[in-house]
Amino acid sequence: METTTNEWAGQFQPTKPSELQLLKAKVAQLEQQLQQERKNRLQLRARTEKSQADLLRQLLAATPNPVCVQDGQGRIILANDAYHHLLRLRAGRADFVVGPDPALLAGDATRSYEEQYERPDGPPLSYHIIKKPFVRPDGTRYLLTSATDITALNQARVAAEESARAKEAFLANMSHEIRTPLNGIIGLARLLRGAASPAEYPDHLDSILTSAEGLLVVINDVLDFAKIESGALDLETMPFAVEAVVQRAAKSLAYNAQAKGLQLHVCLPAAPLPVVAGDASRLGQILLNLLTNAIKFTPAGEVTATVDVSHYEGGRVHLQFCVADTGIGIAPDKFAQIFRSFGQAASSTTRLYGGTGLGLAISQRLVELQGGRIWLDSQPGRGSRFFVSLPYKVSEELPAPAEPAAEAPGLLRGLRVLLVEDNAVNTLLATSLLQAWQASADVAADGEQALERALATPYDVILMDIQMPRLDGLSATAHLRGTPGPNQHQPIIALTANALKKDVETYTAAGFTDWLVKPYHENSLYLALAYASGRAVRPAAPSATRPAAPTYGFAGLGKLAHDTTFIRKMQRLFIDTVPAQLGQLEAAVTGHHWEAASQLSHSLKSTYGNLQIDEATHYARKIEGILKKNPTSETLLNLLVALRLVTSQMVEAFETSLRQPESL
Ligand code: ADP
Repeated sequence: METTTNEWAGQFQPTKPSELQLLKAKVAQLEQQLQQERKNRLQLRARTEKSQADLLRQLLAATPNPVCVQDGQGRIILANDAYHHLLRLRAGRADFVVGPDPALLAGDATRSYEEQYERPDGPPLSYHIIKKPFVRPDGTRYLLTSATDITALNQARVAAEESARAKEAFLANMSHEIRTPLNGIIGLARLLRGAASPAEYPDHLDSILTSAEGLLVVINDVLDFAKIESGALDLETMPFAVEAVVQRAAKSLAYNAQAKGLQLHVCLPAAPLPVVAGDASRLGQILLNLLTNAIKFTPAGEVTATVDVSHYEGGRVHLQFCVADTGIGIAPDKFAQIFRSFGQAASSTTRLYGGTGLGLAISQRLVELQGGRIWLDSQPGRGSRFFVSLPYKVSEELPAPAEPAAEAPGLLRGLRVLLVEDNAVNTLLATSLLQAWQASADVAADGEQALERALATPYDVILMDIQMPRLDGLSATAHLRGTPGPNQHQPIIALTANALKKDVETYTAAGFTDWLVKPYHENSLYLALAYASGRAVRPAAPSATRPAAPTYGFAGLGKLAHDTTFIRKMQRLFIDTVPAQLGQLEAAVTGHHWEAASQLSHSLKSTYGNLQIDEATHYARKIEGILKKNPTSETLLNLLVALRLVTSQMVEAFETSLRQPESL
């Protein structure tokens, strides 16, 4: 059957797309989407890679450890700032930058070593370096190098090693320092018991004493050092005369100097030094250390101790002490070392001169604790000069009177003493002393025995050891104080090896009256017993002592001396003008205006003279004399301090007098 055109046309009318067409379209669309997604993924990956690379770069830049990566030809393909910085320093060995070791690059092994880098502005830096090869997925090999700064670690290690070595040497020294005098003591004591003739007794006993005192110095040094290290050292503040401390230190070593044929001099300033407030015994200890060394290290010649005012500042006088010798001297490169604990200039020092190497370390800490400075100047073979500068508050109070020597004999005659002590040697010593002083002594070997005796017999004083078996001294004393009996309120003196502030507080709290530190000097025991029993009166505490008012008088005013109105006017005038004139004089001296200072001191001298204030007239005359000859502000300011002290006492005395009604 034939079909017409229309029929064909009718047959090819656009109809709904067939399934195939739909499928094709879908595929095309999916392909497009896929392409887009692939593009997005590529873009994302590129972005991620870029940000990761950024992060990595940032991380590398921020890392304080130098890092670098080299390719097979040794070219640096990656390095951070720390690495570039390190490269600018001069390396002791240049391994860090040298091209990769072919063997290292080819294998898997890691290499590590230490390297030093010089710095222009400080000690060299030490780095621990690690080199490690790595392989990329495409097979290319690289070398990663990274370094770690171990300078501080090395320093700590060296310090620890040094300290261990020093402590070992110290222990060896200590054992030598303790054994030598102990050998002497034991040997001589044996001789005394057996072979020695009575004629040799005094010499042997002197040697025993010297050895034992030497031992005490060693032990005190070690204890002091431990106290300083743990921050448990308390400094006193009491008025004292500096000259007396210097002289005492030198005097106590006069014998040692003489025994070596050395001249020992003390050089004090022309004008008296002001009385200062501070720790006299610690100053004495520093000077004693320096003088002992000076004598020890000087085979021939002389040793001189000097003190003078360095300057005045903020109400303080800065004193400068110097201990000079003509001895073996010290090489400049050892100056720092000798101040270190256990440090000596040379190991031969120990063999030749002994010593623990603690003296200067202690002296330095003591000086620094008091706000001062210690330094030295020395030349090997020519001698040394050790300087100490210390600031002290000028004290308005007089120094404490020296403790009277136990020379008043018979004070303890008939005193009944209970000695509580577990150590046989200490017991023998104390009972022998008590016997020599004609006191009677009962002995208890521990706290329990002490309680038994003390409950049965009345005593004038109890001497109580602290550390004892069974019942210690603290508990025994607390018990005695709390139990009614003949000794409940009697004085008890602690015999102790510990004299830290906290120990003393414990003794007081437990009920002790006083304490003595072992080994005590016989004079100290004598006085402690005399004070505790009330047979002698302890001198007043220095803080309560005011300087005696200087004398004055009006006889020099002739007839006017009897005119009370005139005298009162004079006193008022003194109060109103003299302190101000003194201020002007001080200013003139400080500014080196010698002419003005001369006039002022002359005028002041006649004012003091008219009122017969002899002490002040003496100082003013001295100042005038110095101003005429060779004025230096140090000497003058020194005298001015003394003058001001007298003047302020006069002002106080005149003010008191003016407060009285005129008719009196
Ligand atoms: P010690 O004297 O016990 O060894 P020091 O700390 O007092 O300890 O001194 C440390 C070192 O300093 C001494 O061993 C010595 O080498 C050196 N020294 C100190 N004072 C002098 C001095 N006046 N002359 C020479 N060397 C000195």
